[in-house]
Amino acid sequence: MQSLWHAQTASQFTTPLELRVYTSRLLGQEPALVLHGGGNTSVKTQVNNLFGEPEDILFVKGSGWDLETIEAAGFAPVKMHVLLKMAQLTELSDSDMVKYQRAAMIDPNAPNPSVEAILHAIIPFAFVDHTHTDAVVTLTNTSNAESFIEQVYGKRVLVIPYVMPGFALAKRVYKMTQDIDWQSIEGLVLMNHGLFTFSDDAKTAYENTIKLVTEAEKFIEANLCINAEEREEADEKSLEYLDENINIDLLELAKIRKLVSAQKGYAQVALLNSSKGSCHIASHPELKSIANRGPLTPDHVIRTKRVPAILSDNIEAELCGYAQDYIEYFDRYQSGQTILNYAPSFAIWQGKAAISFGKTVNQALIIEDITSHTFDAILTAEALGGYQALSPADIFAVEYWELEQAKLKKGPFSHDKPLLGKVAMVTTAATQVGQAVVAHMEILGANVVELGEHLEFDTLDKCQEAAETAIIDYGGLDIVICLGDDPSNLMLLKACEAFLEHGINPRVLCVNHGSLPVMSDNIIEVLHLNCSASPTLVSLNGSTSLVQKTNGEHLETGVFNLLSAITMMLSNEYVPHEEGVSV
Ligand SMILES: [Zn+2]
Repeated sequence: MQSLWHAQTASQFTTPLELRVYTSRLLGQEPALVLHGGGNTSVKTQVNNLFGEPEDILFVKGSGWDLETIEAAGFAPVKMHVLLKMAQLTELSDSDMVKYQRAAMIDPNAPNPSVEAILHAIIPFAFVDHTHTDAVVTLTNTSNAESFIEQVYGKRVLVIPYVMPGFALAKRVYKMTQDIDWQSIEGLVLMNHGLFTFSDDAKTAYENTIKLVTEAEKFIEANLCINAEEREEADEKSLEYLDENINIDLLELAKIRKLVSAQKGYAQVALLNSSKGSCHIASHPELKSIANRGPLTPDHVIRTKRVPAILSDNIEAELCGYAQDYIEYFDRYQSGQTILNYAPSFAIWQGKAAISFGKTVNQALIIEDITSHTFDAILTAEALGGYQALSPADIFAVEYWELEQAKLKKGPFSHDKPLLGKVAMVTTAATQVGQAVVAHMEILGANVVELGEHLEFDTLDKCQEAAETAIIDYGGLDIVICLGDDPSNLMLLKACEAFLEHGINPRVLCVNHGSLPVMSDNIIEVLHLNCSASPTLVSLNGSTSLVQKTNGEHLETGVFNLLSAITMMLSNEYVPHEEGVSV
């Protein structure tokens, strides 16, 4: 791994916090170090308070910020003496930790400090860098973890056995480092979790991470040659898949998406993960065993769940089995919590590829990123003697940890977007009315496949391709809106019909059509809308406005009525937000 430190760029930054922002972003740019909000960094510095007295302050990454894009405002300033005193407590509840850390902040508007703030405080260096680096967690998730870490680093790092993040981890490190000579070590390796490096200098702290990670990467490379042949075979297979989409039954994919959405209780997108690792693991002879051992680091669990659903020939039964296993897992480890949704966050489709689910494409892509790194790590760990993740009990503790769940509370909510997770196709989307409809569908939360003009679906092949695009891009198709009467609409609907049958509450909306198309399956509801807005644009008085020809007269109208009607007709699950007045 290369250091991204650039002396000239770095020279623009003079304060410790500016340098902290700079190297945090360098760490955040490297997905093999941190992914989607993972990892955290800090800097200790002095700040003059209101009375002109200098105070020691820890600026630590605030929750809700990503290292890749963090700014100075993303760091929570917490009084060091409070954090150091907290480290000496024998017990501290999560709610007290959050409450007293907030109370010790010198800016009440700053975000909540990272759950690792106390740990950052007890490391006696100005700059502390914490990552969940692939190479180190891969080595620590093997059956020979201790021996590998010893072979790579010798006594240059302090190895911390796995402890739940937060106060328990800070306390463990506090105890283990009471008599340590900090100058004699270059970092902390947290088993099944990640790496800490530190220095009074921003560059050294950052480059120590790069150095230690590079050493782990080299060790892995040197010890991996055993399965070179198998890897090559998998690479070839995934390339074939990428080129031709071989063996991917798109109807089956739409069916999987529908079943998972039903299990979740709301519409999901289903993205095929075509990374090499995904294709390799899906065809792995030991798939069921290696894919069911658990995540790479515990904080992935809030997004991916502990294990994927494995789908092969009886998808409905396999998804039911997944839910049953999840309920059993919950019952075994719960201590009064409320069960989370038992539908999978990702699936491995045996012999094909992994599928990531999400309420939005973005959510599914985050799961795809995390699982792609996990697949590579599993395959590497297998080649190094065996992938061994944390126990289900440890994963459960993090999955149901209120401080982890709090991270997910901000997501998009269905009541604001009744079509969230749904997939809609809009014809003649290039017209002004078409664009208004597309924008409106997106506001309602739908993922939209836009067919610009009739030329894009005037042959059966083009129609078929358009329908398949919806499945490849989003995993399914639920709504087709045909704007304007055109014979090619019928051909398009024929091509979409089979996919719509596997859609969620599937509907075809024909705006201003002479007659309605007949669908062979009556689960596809065909709706007719006569509306004063049509895709035909007429230039009136030099400016383009939306008009409709009625009885030979031009009537000026807006698209407002059309959009309101679309909202009412397509969002039957739409329940307006209750607006009340509380006194
Ligand atoms: Zn961490």
